[in-house]
Amino acid sequence: MKKVKELREQNNCLFSNDICESNGKYKNEKNHAIAKSALLKKISHKNQVMVFAWEERDFYKNNGKLSKRNIKNANTYRVLCGKHDKLLFNEIEDGKKFDEHNSKQLFQFAFRSLIFEYSHSKIKSNFDDLVPDIFNKVADAHLIYNTRNFEDFKELYDAKRWDGVKHDIIKLKKQISFVSSFYTRPIWKINKMYLFSTQNISINIFPQDEYTFIILSRIANKSKSIDNYCKNLKKLAQKDEDKFLKYISKLVISSDKNIAINPCSWENTSKENREDFYKCAHFFSNNNSKVSKLLFKAIKYNFYSCKCNLFDM
Ligand SMILES: [Zn+2]
Repeated sequence: MKKVKELREQNNCLFSNDICESNGKYKNEKNHAIAKSALLKKISHKNQVMVFAWEERDFYKNNGKLSKRNIKNANTYRVLCGKHDKLLFNEIEDGKKFDEHNSKQLFQFAFRSLIFEYSHSKIKSNFDDLVPDIFNKVADAHLIYNTRNFEDFKELYDAKRWDGVKHDIIKLKKQISFVSSFYTRPIWKINKMYLFSTQNISINIFPQDEYTFIILSRIANKSKSIDNYCKNLKKLAQKDEDKFLKYISKLVISSDKNIAINPCSWENTSKENREDFYKCAHFFSNNNSKVSKLLFKAIKYNFYSCKCNLFDM
């Protein structure tokens, strides 16, 4: 824990360029992985949310359980300098409403998920099994992919090519009490078949008015199988909403370390569902990075049915 804190404090802004405020001279501030006023506030109760405070001592003391945090301190990490934090996310901060026709805003949602995942994988790469990292999923391979993806996004960003990222937006008439933002490579399709691709997807889920938005984003024209995967998910959402929500819920619980849940909803969830939530969230934890073991776990995960459904909370 101490080392994580040190590494975070030494960190320069991830986006260093000429306008950067950090560049070794200034310590960058802590940034929200999920927009505070635009999103966290919406699902909070008395400004509190449930999160995995996974770079804090509490997380290890209570065996990886969720902790209650004020939205000011929920999911905050030292990743970018103040200038870049404002500039990179200016379309999704300050209570700005989601507009599915705003391509710059969509780009920022996708980029934000990647930026925090990339930063996490950089921090993780400093540990060689010294710390029982509950979210350690073959850290090194992830760092290589994430670095490449980050560079690709950065190039698009510098060129203001917002259309370089493709999105599928699913809008459901449904109220939810959580917010999710993560960057992942799904390994199993809806039909339990293996998904052949090394491309990642940014997934953002949040409420707005009486709707729930689910945004699936990835770099355009890179992987046909990922495009098909997103297309099929969108189709399923229209055809069989229950099945779709179950699938997404399991994916979120097992992959999103930034998830924030309304404390009352969490409190009202049955003990059985809460236990299942943790089982699913820590499914790949404490692996010793042996490929055979990981493979076995991945197959077990595919056929494991998570009883906890975030969309029913
Ligand atoms: Zn900067």
